[in-house]
Amino acid sequence: MAPPHVPASAGDLTPELLGTSEWSDQLVAAAGIPMYDIPFLTVGGGMGSFVTLDYLRIYGVPASQMRVVSNIDTPWQTYEFLTRCSQIPRSERIRSDSASRPDNIWGFPSYALQETWTDKTPAYLWQLLTEPLLNDYWTPRAGTVFQSLEREAKRIDYWDMLVKGQVRMVRRRAGGGYFTVVTPPEGSAPTKRVIFRSRFVHIAIGYPGLKFLPDLQEFRTKHGDYQHVVNAYEPHEQVYEFLKTRPGTVVIRGGGIVASRVLQRLFDDREKFRLQTQIVHIFRTFVTGSHGPHVWARRKGGDGWAYQGFNYPKSVWGGQLKAQMRKLEGAERAAKYKEMGGTNTPYCRRWQEQMRAGRSGGYYHPVQGTVDRVERGSDGRLVSYVRSSDGIVREPVADYIIDCTGLEADIAEHRIYDDLLRHGGAYRNPVGRLEVERHFEVKGTASGDGVLYASGSATLGGYFPGVDTFLGLQIAAQEIADDLARRGFVRRMGPFRSTSQWFKWAFNSPV
Ligand SMILES: Cc1cc2nc3c(=O)[nH]c(=O)nc-3n(C[C@H](O)[C@H](O)[C@H](O)COP(=O)(O)OP(=O)(O)OC[C@H]3O[C@@H](n4cnc5c(N)ncnc54)[C@H](O)[C@@H]3O)c2cc1C
Repeated sequence: MAPPHVPASAGDLTPELLGTSEWSDQLVAAAGIPMYDIPFLTVGGGMGSFVTLDYLRIYGVPASQMRVVSNIDTPWQTYEFLTRCSQIPRSERIRSDSASRPDNIWGFPSYALQETWTDKTPAYLWQLLTEPLLNDYWTPRAGTVFQSLEREAKRIDYWDMLVKGQVRMVRRRAGGGYFTVVTPPEGSAPTKRVIFRSRFVHIAIGYPGLKFLPDLQEFRTKHGDYQHVVNAYEPHEQVYEFLKTRPGTVVIRGGGIVASRVLQRLFDDREKFRLQTQIVHIFRTFVTGSHGPHVWARRKGGDGWAYQGFNYPKSVWGGQLKAQMRKLEGAERAAKYKEMGGTNTPYCRRWQEQMRAGRSGGYYHPVQGTVDRVERGSDGRLVSYVRSSDGIVREPVADYIIDCTGLEADIAEHRIYDDLLRHGGAYRNPVGRLEVERHFEVKGTASGDGVLYASGSATLGGYFPGVDTFLGLQIAAQEIADDLARRGFVRRMGPFRSTSQWFKWAFNSPV
């Protein structure tokens, strides 16, 4: 109970605050919300926040000058959850390459060197030297990435900077900088909200939400069935457990890396437990061969899939495409994204072999088509009405449907972005996400001498394409650190500091 002299709403957002786009210190004080000053604040606490803090700590910013507000305990928690659901547990290998090290800003030594050393397996180096011609691309185990992140997080005092809580909004401050409104965990603070007043704010809150295929969402809502129609990014172990108890059929939707991982799990279980699982794989776009606009930029494909080693062509990271992209605006930029885009997955010899066996053994059935609707059959199983491009309608019946298509909902579905678009001056880029500068400042949100930055998937469509990858988050972090150096918040890092910091990293010494 609030004391009698304090209004019941004290410590919470008032209608006046909610309706005002730029807040004064007095307005916040009048609401009775406790306020803390911190020069740099990052919101999210996932991989994007972590790599940004890592850069800034290595550049020389003390931990006492920065805070990270997050609803998770470790920077890899959400990433680990999503990879585990999509069939990449700690022991399996992730997609990105050996030098994409979110725990090491220099990328050296690479994960391949590290795993060669720890596993005493020189074969990894052979694979690295002969990829992708004689071997698949070498990629690190998820567990290696998490262990390395934990080591680096301790080294940079990550947990001294962590503030647990849910960020509600970031509003501009009259006179410069921003207010970040946080809802702390229940019982941890005397008021419902606390506010951080900062000159610099960085937002990296990952994916705004899960996106379901409309027909599947309709089925789930209509039947209240969240067990048999699942998204690959949510826990769905019940599917694999059911199939161990009796023969069953699974429909897979989607042709990206997650579909290939789920398929591999079904094939592996079939082999391991001698199961009778039948798999119907529905591709909306069925790729039959190499494709692409130019002879020199064609993507390989076949059997329904488009193949590409990594999410983006290599020149995005430092080549021609990176330079070209930095100059494009509006429709031209959107067109370039379209050209590069499209669902794809790496070619992997093991599951190619499994798919071949599945096709010839009559238990893997790839089909092209658009699903009109999903209904429950008279026996309670799931009937998909699939219309192929030649007009034929098929009706595969299944026990489970796994949607491997979408993770990314519209940015406005996240409250923070919605508020930024309404009150913060932010606006959308040519592909509908948040428009950011080349140095990842959110355009339209400047506030006096303060700057608001963003990185990660919400900024896809900007001057740099690979934003939602470890390396992309690191490139963004470096741009942000350099911009902060230009603004006098930290000194630029020259070759001497970089070298001495690398030795500190190598010997696991404090920054
Ligand atoms: C299955 C999968 C596999 C991937 N594999 C690779 C790969 O192999 N290589 C690669 O380079 N990239 C990969 N990526 C892409 C990308 O690198 C990761 O998704 C990365 O985790 C993105 O970092 P982030 O900080 O943007 O988001 P996240 O790591 O998801 O962190 C954002 C955090 O913000 C928190 N948050 C959200 N809202 C609030 C709020 N209001 N208040 C407080 N906290 C909030 C969330 O809880 C979340 O933990 C993969 C992505 C997925 C989904």
